[in-house]
Amino acid sequence: MTETLSATLAEDNAPAKSEALRPRPAINLDNAFFFEALTERGELAIQQCSDCNELRHPPVPMCPECHSVHWAPKTMGGRGIVHSYVVLYHPIVPPFEPGYIVAVVELEEGPRVVMNLEDVEREDVVIGMAVSITVERMDADLVLPVARPEGGHS
Ligand SMILES: [Zn+2]
Repeated sequence: MTETLSATLAEDNAPAKSEALRPRPAINLDNAFFFEALTERGELAIQQCSDCNELRHPPVPMCPECHSVHWAPKTMGGRGIVHSYVVLYHPIVPPFEPGYIVAVVELEEGPRVVMNLEDVEREDVVIGMAVSITVERMDADLVLPVARPEGGHS
């Protein structure tokens, strides 16, 4: 115990950026399917009511439209627009670097999903801009959707 503490204190107080992993999502019974779809099938899936077909996100146990508790995951097509966004400078948690962009992306199918917006300068982000969404592996355990300007390698 004492030995471990000494070893920890002897090192730099922050892990190297390359070693730091992204924060883990808080997975529960409602949203587990969302992360399973990403991790196991590379798909962005949204909860769809089995009775009225309403798509809803973030996941909840009961349909807000018809109060049904029956639902199934529906795979989204991977296109959307920037509904809103923030540029983060503080506090920065490794491995993120100051100035990264987090967007609320409104999917073509309707639901809004929070994800990183990459390959665009913050000055060039416009509300309503078209984005395409890819599912990408962040590390051994984490797979997330990422948005980029549609058709662009800027
Ligand atoms: Zn419903």
